[in-house]
Amino acid sequence: MSSTLDLSIVIPLLNEEESLEQLVDWIDATLSSRPLNYEILLIDDGSTDRSWEVIDALSRKRGHINAIQFSRNYGKSQALNAGFAAAQGNVVITMDADLQDSPEEIPELYRMIVDEKYDLVSGWKRKRYDNVLFKNLPSKLFNWAARRASGLKLHDFNCGLKAYRREVTQQVDVYGEMHRYIPVLAAHKGFTRITEKEVKHQARQFGVTKFGSERFIRGFLDLLTISFLTRFGNRPMHFFGTLGGIMVFLGVMSAAYIGLEKLGAVYNGNPMRLVTNSPWFYISLTTILIGTQLFIAGFLGELIQRNRGNKKRYVISRSIKPRFATHVTPETTIA
Ligand code: UDP
Ligand code: MG
Repeated sequence: MSSTLDLSIVIPLLNEEESLEQLVDWIDATLSSRPLNYEILLIDDGSTDRSWEVIDALSRKRGHINAIQFSRNYGKSQALNAGFAAAQGNVVITMDADLQDSPEEIPELYRMIVDEKYDLVSGWKRKRYDNVLFKNLPSKLFNWAARRASGLKLHDFNCGLKAYRREVTQQVDVYGEMHRYIPVLAAHKGFTRITEKEVKHQARQFGVTKFGSERFIRGFLDLLTISFLTRFGNRPMHFFGTLGGIMVFLGVMSAAYIGLEKLGAVYNGNPMRLVTNSPWFYISLTTILIGTQLFIAGFLGELIQRNRGNKKRYVISRSIKPRFATHVTPETTIA
C-alpha cells in the first residue's frame, strides 16, 4: 500500500530535553528545500525530564510532528516498535535523539531506498566519537560476532540511523532489546536487499548515554537468541530432538555395553563388579535423563509454536489471483 506521505522519521528518546528542539530544527532545515512530504515521529520512552513538554511545545508550532508518550521506560526496542506501527511514510528512517546522528544523512538514505530499491540501509559510524575502551572496542567485537552469526556483512548493526522500506518496518517484530539486530530480523523475513552507508557521527552534546556496560552481555545473549530463533524458531523439535536423540543414543549404548559386559562375565564364570560400580552406569543414567528432558523441551516448543494462533509465520511478497472461474480460458474455448 503506498501512502501519500513520503517519509516518516522515527525518533525514540529518553530524557533528551536539551536536544529535541535543535534536532527538529536541523531536520527541517535539511528537508525543507526538498519536495518531500514527511512527518517526525517522536516516541518518548518514559522520560522523567521535560522532554514531553518540549515535544508538546514543538508540536504546537509545527504541523508535522507526531508524538507518542509511554507510561514508563520500556526500552528503545519497544519505542521503535511503537514508532513503526504509527509511521505512515513509504520510507521510514530511524535516528537517535541525542544529536549524535546527523539529519544531513536523511536525503541520501531516502534516495537509496527509493531509487536503488534497497529494503534496508544501515548507517555505519566509521569514525566514532564515543569512549574507546568502553564502547568502540566492545562494539567491534560485538559486530564481528553478529556478522559471523547472521552472515550479513554489516560493520555497525546497532547504528541508530537506518532507513527502511515501509513493508520492512511493518513485518519486523522488534521487542526486548532486539533493536541491535533489526537487519538480522529483516533478512530472516526475506528482505535481503540490505546495505550500509557511512554516516557522520558526533560526540554526545547533552545528557548521558542511556545504555551502561550491561549492553554487551545483553547484546551477546540476544545474539544467541536470535541465531536460535532464526534457525529453529519455527521447528523447535528439530533442535531439541537432535540433541535429545544424541543423548539418549549415548545412554542406550552405555547401558548396552554394561549389560553385555556383565552377561559375558556371567557366561564365562568370571567375577564381575556390580553394574553400579561402572562409570558407564552413571554416564548412561545422566545422558538418558538429559535426553528425555530435551525431548520434553522440544515437544513444549512445538506446542507453543502451534498455539501461536494466526500470527503469521511467513511474508508473502507477491501473489497472482485467478482471472477466471474455470481452468479453461475464454480464448481457448473460442479457438
Ligand atoms: N533511548 C530510548 N529508550 C531507552 C534508552 C535509549 O528511547 O531506554 C533512546 C535515547 O534517548 C537515544 C537513543 O535511544 O535517542 C540511543 O541512546 P543512547 O544515545 O543513550 O545510546 P548510545 O548512543 O550511547 O549507544
Ligand atoms: Mg547516543
